[in-house]
Amino acid sequence: MLSFWEKNSLLRYDVIIVGSGILGLSTACEIKERYPEKNILVLERGILPTGASTKNAGFLCFGSITEILADFNLKGEKETLSLVEKRWKGINYLKERLAENKIGYLSYGGYDLLDTPHSPAVKEIDRVNALLKQVFDNDVFQISDSKIKEFGFNRELVSHMVYSPFEAQIDTGEMMKTLLKYAQFLGIQIINGAEVKEVSDGKVYLWHSSMNESICFKAEKILICANAFVNKLLPELDVKPGRGHVIITNPITGLKFKGIFHFNQGYYYFRNYGERVIFGGGRNLDFEAEESFDFGFNETILNDLKDKLDNMILPGTEYVIEDKWTGIMGFTKNKLPEILNIDKNTIAAVSCNGMGIALSSYIARELTDSLY
Ligand SMILES: Cc1cc2nc3c(=O)[nH]c(=O)nc-3n(C[C@H](O)[C@H](O)[C@H](O)COP(=O)(O)OP(=O)(O)OC[C@H]3O[C@@H](n4cnc5c(N)ncnc54)[C@H](O)[C@@H]3O)c2cc1C
Repeated sequence: MLSFWEKNSLLRYDVIIVGSGILGLSTACEIKERYPEKNILVLERGILPTGASTKNAGFLCFGSITEILADFNLKGEKETLSLVEKRWKGINYLKERLAENKIGYLSYGGYDLLDTPHSPAVKEIDRVNALLKQVFDNDVFQISDSKIKEFGFNRELVSHMVYSPFEAQIDTGEMMKTLLKYAQFLGIQIINGAEVKEVSDGKVYLWHSSMNESICFKAEKILICANAFVNKLLPELDVKPGRGHVIITNPITGLKFKGIFHFNQGYYYFRNYGERVIFGGGRNLDFEAEESFDFGFNETILNDLKDKLDNMILPGTEYVIEDKWTGIMGFTKNKLPEILNIDKNTIAAVSCNGMGIALSSYIARELTDSLY
């Protein structure tokens, strides 16, 4: 049984947030910055955050040219531009909150590698730049074909490269460590190993395994930031998991490129990390199998990543793959983030899709705006 003391002092909060990924923590910080008197509790099922925020490749991007063109077809120009703007604002809010030197921020820019089928994108650069001017106040994309040889990529497989000076990279681990420390500095309480089983009407239920009983926290506001795992709590929401694979090489002496790189509408992405290469993606090879909550591996995708490293990105270079991992993202059909009122106490923020590092600090502001 819980004691009087526990019931009296440890179970009541103003706000409870489910999930300590970048969205849950950024939202907790945003609320505490605006309302320092609020008692905030973050409940995280894992010993560490266990979804996407500590598993991604550390890109600060808002959409490559091929991804933006694909999004124009999927959701139209207006929605796409609005989403790009939210991502760009989110990136800037993240840097304002945590400071560039605390998140391993490096602005080497970003490149989209175009194979022959994607080459017509080059003709769209002027049009897309004109549309993006309202967000960036500058040209975002420029052709950069001379770098293909300089960076050592296979010119038979890369026809064009499109450069954006606005893209950057971070150290994902440092960013999340700094965000956790900052949340604790603000006085936000974080409990790990606390898997929420049910949420309703201002109550959050968990299983207290050492006491072998159910435990119930109460709050005026409950914010669900569980990303891909949200419909384990709210089955009515149409959010699907999407697993992302990442591999990292040994340090390669004389690595020829720095920056972040994407190809095939953002389905593949690689970057330098010092002299290492981090390479991820390939979900498009097997969407069905990758709609998974399992942090395991798909050998077909790993082999494809290795093949692309050998033949396209590092041709003729010796390297070894030193580590690999997967992370689970949450996807909706239209790829748009949403803030949903579930009941009078509960709000769910869903579907940062594959862009939550960029979007979360923006969504945290919108979510906080909606509270009081
Ligand atoms: C391989 C990969 C590459 C990516 N590349 C990029 C990129 O280039 N740019 C970009 O902007 N984004 C990228 N992303 C996406 C980005 O990482 C995510 O959109 C972002 O981290 C989502 O943050 P989140 O806080 O919403 O979710 P998560 O980080 O998934 O956090 C949700 C948290 O909720 C916890 N949780 C779930 N259910 C419960 C429960 N019942 N009780 C308690 N806790 C619970 C989970 O353990 C988890 O810690 C990538 C992701 C991956 C995996």
